[in-house]
Amino acid sequence: MALAAAKEKWKVAIIEKKAIGGTCALWGCVPKKVLISGEELANFSQRMAAAGLSSNTTPDWSELMAFKHRLTRSFSQDSRSRCKNTI
Ligand SMILES: Cc1cc2nc3c(=O)[nH]c(=O)nc-3n(C[C@H](O)[C@H](O)[C@H](O)COP(=O)(O)OP(=O)(O)OC[C@H]3O[C@@H](n4cnc5c(N)ncnc54)[C@H](O)[C@@H]3O)c2cc1C
Repeated sequence: MALAAAKEKWKVAIIEKKAIGGTCALWGCVPKKVLISGEELANFSQRMAAAGLSSNTTPDWSELMAFKHRLTRSFSQDSRSRCKNTI
């Protein structure tokens, strides 16, 4: 909305308590899906083992969390750049 208004030459100010980018990208859909993918991997591995099949695929949760932070930080930086370049 702010970007659309700025493109129409309106004076725009953005006040954001935390990082710019929105709930979905930074705290909702995207981080949730990254963490769920780790749980799905662990669950699949357990079901393989329960069926007597060898499986040692377990996620490295600290790596996954670090990836989630990198991903959401890059989304936020992109949003910030778009705002800086437009507003
Ligand atoms: C844990 C969790 C998981 C979720 N999972 C899903 C899911 O899987 N599927 C689904 O459909 N919904 C999911 N949601 C809901 C989804 O995140 C919200 O419905 C959606 O974010 C609402 O968008 P909004 O733009 O109304 O508000 P918000 O995203 O909360 O916006 C709040 C603030 O961010 C700013 N903002 C928003 N977008 C941008 C942007 N692109 N760039 C810069 N600033 C921006 C707004 O201006 C505002 O100040 C989930 C929510 C949570 C909390």
